[in-house]
Amino acid sequence: MSSSTNPVAIVTGASRGIGRAIAVRLGRDGYAVTVNFHSSHQAADEVAREIEQAGGKAIAVQADIGASADRAQLVEETLARFGRLDVLVNNAGITSVGRKDLLEATEEVGTRWFATNLKGPFFLAQLAARQMIALVESAMIPRGTIVNVSSISAYAVSTNRADYCMAKAAMQMMTWLFADRLAEHRINVYEVCPGVIASDMTAPVKEKYDALIAEGMSPIRRWGQPDDVPPPSPCSPAASSHSARASESTSMAGFISGGCSYSPPFRSS
Ligand code: NDP
Repeated sequence: MSSSTNPVAIVTGASRGIGRAIAVRLGRDGYAVTVNFHSSHQAADEVAREIEQAGGKAIAVQADIGASADRAQLVEETLARFGRLDVLVNNAGITSVGRKDLLEATEEVGTRWFATNLKGPFFLAQLAARQMIALVESAMIPRGTIVNVSSISAYAVSTNRADYCMAKAAMQMMTWLFADRLAEHRINVYEVCPGVIASDMTAPVKEKYDALIAEGMSPIRRWGQPDDVPPPSPCSPAASSHSARASESTSMAGFISGGCSYSPPFRSS
């Protein structure tokens, strides 16, 4: 294992869309990046190449985030290549298949969205956190950062995407839980809530959102772009996870939703 002097990030679902933009920007910011993908091997290789051509370090690693063995392999390959892990960006996600009314939703579809949008991110965060705790304790990294890419769908109702809304709402609580549990270990956890971002995910509903945006769905009347989503900390977009500014915040949600925003978290016990 060779140890990178630069901080190291895993970005899930980094072959396309928001994950790609985050990976490239982390690369530019000096992170060595593990570019995770599920099926878009060539696209992920291109992202890794783009980071390397800009002077950074990157590897593309195939892993189905919903599969336990794949998640373990993703972390292991990162540590084997770079020797440390500073940042996990839990970005990979799928939209509701078929966007069916909740009265028509099927259990087959339910298994897939649950594995990809919730179970996978939860257990990957757990794996990453265990590694980060050991790395912080051995002074190999100054602190850890976990960013969960949730959605305004965690807060807004879409009855034709109940599965997606529920998974993203659970991810909000997951962020608070990990933030609370990991604070003593110098690991900060954030939620990023994109609104409507132009990507393959939203391409099939482009016309619908063109009209809604034009009608004033959000105060800022334009599509968000993948580059609008800030890595790695929503409350200090320009800061690295090593800065003092980032160290005193955790559990925060950052909205990239054209001006729509919602309420903060509270601790009940
Ligand atoms: P895209 O559909 O453009 O990209 C999805 C990415 O996730 C791809 O890299 C894909 O890999 C990867 N992925 C999908 N399933 C898996 C899996 N099982 N294991 C590993 N990787 C997987 O999506 P976006 O960029 O639009 O969305 C990224 C995140 O942002 C998602 O979590 C989404 O819910 C969230 N979001 C998006 C919004 C939007 O308007 N676009 C709004 C709010 C939240 P591959 O290319 O290999 O298939």
